[in-house]
Amino acid sequence: MNLTLYKRRRLRQKPHILTIEQSRELGQLVGKKVLKHVADQGLIPINLFRLRKKKLEMIYKYLFDHQLIHDKQPIFESLQTHQLAEYLLNIIYPGYPACKAKNLAYTDYRLCREKDTELIPLAYDYVPTTEVYERLDELYRMNIDWKENTTIEISICTLKRAIDRIRAANFMKPFESIEYHLYFWNSPRTLLKPQCKSLCLNGQEIWSEKKEKIIAEGFMHINITKQLEQSITEKSKKIKLDIKLANNDEYNINHISISAVIKRPTQDLVRDLYLQTATECIAKSIQTSLCPLDTQQIAIHLLKQYQESKDKLKSSENLFLTCLSNTFNKNLSSSEEDDDEDEEEDMVSLVDPVSGTRIQHPVKSLHCKHRSCFDAAIFFDRNADIKLWHCPICLVHIKNTEELRVDYVNKVALAQYPQEEKLFVLQKDTLLSEAEMFGENETILIQEDLKHSLIQDDEAPVQKRLRTLTHVM
Ligand SMILES: [Zn+2]
Repeated sequence: MNLTLYKRRRLRQKPHILTIEQSRELGQLVGKKVLKHVADQGLIPINLFRLRKKKLEMIYKYLFDHQLIHDKQPIFESLQTHQLAEYLLNIIYPGYPACKAKNLAYTDYRLCREKDTELIPLAYDYVPTTEVYERLDELYRMNIDWKENTTIEISICTLKRAIDRIRAANFMKPFESIEYHLYFWNSPRTLLKPQCKSLCLNGQEIWSEKKEKIIAEGFMHINITKQLEQSITEKSKKIKLDIKLANNDEYNINHISISAVIKRPTQDLVRDLYLQTATECIAKSIQTSLCPLDTQQIAIHLLKQYQESKDKLKSSENLFLTCLSNTFNKNLSSSEEDDDEDEEEDMVSLVDPVSGTRIQHPVKSLHCKHRSCFDAAIFFDRNADIKLWHCPICLVHIKNTEELRVDYVNKVALAQYPQEEKLFVLQKDTLLSEAEMFGENETILIQEDLKHSLIQDDEAPVQKRLRTLTHVM
């Protein structure tokens, strides 16, 4: 099979926990008339954010009747439509980034609204960002005419009201992760690069090298979170902004706006990668199973365990390991994409190429051809303010988190060999330490390693490694 086509197809299909039949039935339930092709394709994540609450409740009922709910039952009355859509997205597509589905749907929504009303909202959803940031809403917007001076004053009361509104609409999200970004607009659809010479907030210079670097990366915002929050707590009545642009382009600015975004915690992004890889495995297992409904119920049971746990990151790792272990996934261990790896490569590094520390969450892109991985947490920490992502090993372009996969073989090896920094590739899916590969007391070492791993980690998936090692012995 053509691997590039295979990978593209893999990215197009959003992995979910439904059988083909259920996916079609749900597509029909939300209606052919409303959404073109939806009945053929089943549901797709973005469609959930285009539906009315009544339809979403119908989907919930369908999922409930088919025993497919793995999270706590939501209290419908308290949920807004987009919150219910996000809940259903997490049920059907575990690990799929909700902010991405929302963005696409809101672009549609804005375009429709523009036709109906005179009001032209700023094209906030065109603002360049990464998946690390989730857009919330516009906080403040002002039309300006800067022929005289380049100062603006904003009432704190207005800002406070907007912040309260945004917090109420996102009460399930961590407030401490909310950031406030300042934008300059030439027209409702055109953003200007906010390259400043100076930016004073209430007389205090807040323009910095870091802000300049972020704009050089291609972002179009100035992060004013700290100063804004400080001004609000100081109980001043107004915020005064003095802006001096680097290019003397002030006259081109016709609107300024402040918007709220949530910086998604690294831990959540890593957790989603485990979930995403696990869901892909669940989807394949259901599709290839002779008893898809039974396989589906095993998956629901595992997802329930995940939802009930307090430590979501650890629990997502366990879910991932269980799903990808051969007991659950008998025929899928030699998946097609693995054949794309470089056959010549005989070593795998367990050290992150950027930080030089031991990898905890081994990931690589679908398009990478190497066996070694990099650490997802370090990658997200370092790339939050970088617009174009690249694999730190082979520099292949990473468009979004959907292209990243947690590597099962590396993940198991990291638990198996807590002391090793690199391992040798014996055969496909089998990694050995130097002592095992070349040492004389090979068997003893393996046995000791095994004992060690069983004592260290009592999780069932690591024990599955027994299989590979028994085979070597
Ligand atoms: Zn790579």
